[in-house]
Amino acid sequence: MRVPVLTYHSNNVAGNDYADNDHVALAADLRLIARRGLRIVPLATVVDVLLGEAPASEVARAVALSFDDGSWFDWHDIDHPTCGPQRGFAGILRDFAADTGAAVHATSFVIVSPQARATLDRTCLAGRGWWDDAWWRPAQQEGLVAIESHSWDHNHHTLPVTAQHAQRTGTFRTIDTRADADAQIRQAADWLDRRLAPHRTTLFAFPYGESNDYLLREYLPRHAGEHRVRAAFGTDPAPVELTASRWNLPRYVCGSHWRSPAELERLIATR
Ligand SMILES: [Zn+2]
Repeated sequence: MRVPVLTYHSNNVAGNDYADNDHVALAADLRLIARRGLRIVPLATVVDVLLGEAPASEVARAVALSFDDGSWFDWHDIDHPTCGPQRGFAGILRDFAADTGAAVHATSFVIVSPQARATLDRTCLAGRGWWDDAWWRPAQQEGLVAIESHSWDHNHHTLPVTAQHAQRTGTFRTIDTRADADAQIRQAADWLDRRLAPHRTTLFAFPYGESNDYLLREYLPRHAGEHRVRAAFGTDPAPVELTASRWNLPRYVCGSHWRSPAELERLIATR
């Protein structure tokens, strides 16, 4: 088993070139993946194989895709205020499937708290209501983009208050108590499971890719019956192999671990 998980941020639109626009990069990368003869499999299938619940053949010569933060740019086509019309990530996946006939799937790790998203829409986007969750249920039902958890409020530094007890924000390393972990991880799963039933949230991606010993050695392994997370993802740049830790699975991040098709080609090259 050797599956690269590629991560994109649909909010990353600073221009209209591969290096400064994750929409341009995703569209190009899908073609590259197909040209290299690799399949795209759901992230949940990668976890199934890792946990011995599916045969390794299901992820042979495959990559998986994940999106972070869960704004409208994952789903809707949007006229960006400075960069013009942007095809949403879901549309890019559909275009690729229509052109090539290939199977395609992505997992969107969403920031769950509605209040946090309403503020982040103003502090990180253009303040036009582009971070609501109305698309999550149709996305989950269609089966093209799965919805999973990226925490309750990302412990984001632009929020007036977060679920971190001492307001040490801008990092996820400070989520190191039972109460804070429940507020960020269990509360998020509860909310998603209520809204997206019968889908059950079982995957988690650490905000900023950051974790700590409490989360990795105690909270996630010892309280699984309560938070229901099957596997968690960080951002160590490596493929998922059978030796990987289920509580801190690696992912490559577009714009940080690769910035051009040639760099991606090296990451996904099969041995
Ligand atoms: Zn994030």
